[in-house]
Amino acid sequence: MAKTKKFKTESQKLLRLMTHSIYTQKEIFLRELISNASDAMDKRHYLSLTDSKIHSDTYEIMLEPSQEKRTLSIRDNGIGFTEDELIHNLGTIAQSGSQQFLEQLEAEDLEMIGQFGVGFYSAFMVAKKVEVFTKSPFAEKGLKWSSTGESSYTISEIERTEIGTEIVLHLLDDDKENEENYSKYLDEYTLRGLVKKHSDYVRYPIVMMVEETVDEKKTIVKETLNQMVPIWKKAKADIEPEAMNEFYKRQFHDYEDPIEVIHSHVEGLLTYTALLFIPKKPPYDFYSEKYEKGLQLYSKGVFIQDKNKDLLPDHFKFVKGLIDSQDISLNISREMLQQNRQVKQIANHLEKKIKSELETMLKNNRERYIEFYDTYKITLKYGMYDQFGAYKDQLKDLILFKTSQSDDYITLKEYLDRKPEAQKTIYYATGKTKQSIMNLPQMDVMKDKGHEVLLFTDDIDEFMIQVLGTYNDVPFKSVQQGEADFIDENQQKEVVEKTKANEELLTAIQTVLKDEVKEVKLTARLKDSPVCIVSGEGVSLEMEKVLAQIPNQEGIKAERILEINPEHPLFQAIQTVYEKKEKHIDDYAILLYHQALLLEGLPIEDPTAFTKSLVELMIEAAK
Ligand code: ADP
Repeated sequence: MAKTKKFKTESQKLLRLMTHSIYTQKEIFLRELISNASDAMDKRHYLSLTDSKIHSDTYEIMLEPSQEKRTLSIRDNGIGFTEDELIHNLGTIAQSGSQQFLEQLEAEDLEMIGQFGVGFYSAFMVAKKVEVFTKSPFAEKGLKWSSTGESSYTISEIERTEIGTEIVLHLLDDDKENEENYSKYLDEYTLRGLVKKHSDYVRYPIVMMVEETVDEKKTIVKETLNQMVPIWKKAKADIEPEAMNEFYKRQFHDYEDPIEVIHSHVEGLLTYTALLFIPKKPPYDFYSEKYEKGLQLYSKGVFIQDKNKDLLPDHFKFVKGLIDSQDISLNISREMLQQNRQVKQIANHLEKKIKSELETMLKNNRERYIEFYDTYKITLKYGMYDQFGAYKDQLKDLILFKTSQSDDYITLKEYLDRKPEAQKTIYYATGKTKQSIMNLPQMDVMKDKGHEVLLFTDDIDEFMIQVLGTYNDVPFKSVQQGEADFIDENQQKEVVEKTKANEELLTAIQTVLKDEVKEVKLTARLKDSPVCIVSGEGVSLEMEKVLAQIPNQEGIKAERILEINPEHPLFQAIQTVYEKKEKHIDDYAILLYHQALLLEGLPIEDPTAFTKSLVELMIEAAK
C-alpha cells in the first residue's frame, strides 16, 4: 500500500523554485545526484568497517539512460534509505545551510541556485517525475519513493534485496519555445561531458554501459567516465580556481566562493594533504553555541569523519576543509581518533599553516585581509584572550586597530614603527564608536600633543589587551585610566601647585561625592572640557559596562576618580562660589560628577539629585 505524504513547507518552496526555475544551468542536477550517491557509499563503507554484513567489495555509480522510456537513472550501491530516512531526508530540508540559503534567496539572484549544493531536489529541474528505489541494510524491505515535485510524495514497499539506491528521472518534454532540451540528458556524449566537467574527482567509478564496435562486431562495454582523483590529490597548478570553488560550495554547503583556499601537501614524518577554506561569510549559526568547528577527515581518499574538532583550534574555528592522511589508520574508533597522536601533530601543523597564510595575506593583499578581518576579528580577539592568553603570541600580529589619526587599520607593529621615539607606551581609548572616543574629554590632550591612540570599539578589546600585557615589551596605556603620565613635567608641577592652593575646595567636593568617587583631583589632561572621570588601574569603566551584562559579574565596579581642569572657567567659577557662599558647593560637586558620567557614556546613578542641583542653580542664576 502506498502512503502519500506532504512535503514540509520549506521543501515545497525549494521545489517550486526548482520546477519553475528559469535557471540556465539545469545540468548541475547530475552533479548533485552523483555527489549524494558518493556520500551514500562513503557511509556504507564506513559502517562496514565495524559491521561486516554491510560490506561490499566494489562500489560504483551507474548512469543508465533509456531512450524508449525517456528516463535517466542513477544507481549506487551506497547505504540506501529506510522509510524514516526517506521521509526525513527527502521530505524536509535537513541541511541547515539550505534553510539559510532559502531565506536569503528571495531578494537575491536566482542564478545562485546553481552555485549552491541544492541537492536532491535539483532533479526536478529536468524531471516531471522522480522515483527512488532503495534498500537499506537496516530495513526489512525495499522501498519506492515517488513524486512529481508538487506538494506531496508517496512511499510504498517493493521487492528489492540489493543494498543501495536507484534514482529514476522521468525527463521533462523538450520545450522548443524556450529552447529547453531535456532529451540531451539521454545522450551518452552529453553525460560523459557532464561527468568530466562536474564530477571528475568523485572517488568512486561513475560508469555507463556503452556500445562499442570491436572487430566490426557491436558489443556493450562498461565505461568509466571519471578520473577518480579527488580534487585535493591533484597538484595545485592543475586545478582551475573555478573547479576548486565549485568543490568547496558543494562539499561545505556554501553559496559563495571562499575568501581563501589553503591547499598543501605535506610529506615527511607525517604525510597528509590539507585542503582548507575560509568562507567569505560565516555560517548563520557561527556565533551560537550550536556551531561546531572541525575538519573532514579522510584516509587515503576514504571518508572517515565529518567534523574532527581536534584538528582546529578555537581561534581558527571559521576554517572549513578536509585532511587526507595515509597515516591515520581506518580501524580506530572515533573516540580513539581524538586521542590520536597523529591528529594532534597535524593540528599543530595546520595551526601554523593557517597563521602563516593569514600573515601572507595581510602582507600581500591587505584589502582581502581586511575583508577577512572585519568578518572574523572577534574570533581572533577572543582567541588572544581565551585560556589566559595561551595563544596570544600566535595571534597578536593578526590583530588590527583603527586609530585616532587614521581610518585605515594598522597592526600593533605598525603603531610602534611610527610612534615617536620618546613615547614609551601604546595609547588606547575605549568607546562605542570612533566618534564617541574622539569626543572624550581625555582625548583633549592626546589631540593637542598629536599622540596616536588605538580605538577600542569591540567589547573584547580591553580584556584582550589585559591578557596581552605588552607588545614587543611596550606596555599599553589607556587614556581613560590611571595617571596621566603623558603630560610633561612643567605642567605636572603646575598641577601640584594648584592642588595645594585648592586643597580645601577639593576636599569639600570629595566629601560631597565620597560614596561615588575614590578621589577628586586637578589634572592637566583636559583642555576644552571642564571635567572627566578616569578609572584606577584594573577594571576600567568600559569593562564595567561589559561586565554588567554578564550574569554574576554585574557587581564588579571600576574605581572612579574625578579629574577637574583647573584652567577651565568652570573651575574658576567654583572657586568663586566656594569662597563666597559655601552652601552651593554641594550642587556644583554633584553636577560636575554627573556631567563627567554623561561624557563617559555612563548612566546617571541618581537622576533626582542631578535634576535638583540643576534646578537650584538655574533659579540662582536668574536672581
Ligand atoms: P544534502 O546532500 O545537501 O544533504 P540532499 O537533498 O541532496 O541534501 O539529500 C538529503 C539527504 O538524503 C542526504 O543528506 C542523504 O542523507 C540522503 N540521500 C540523498 N541521496 C542519497 C542516496 N543516493 N543514498 C542514500 N541517501 C541519500
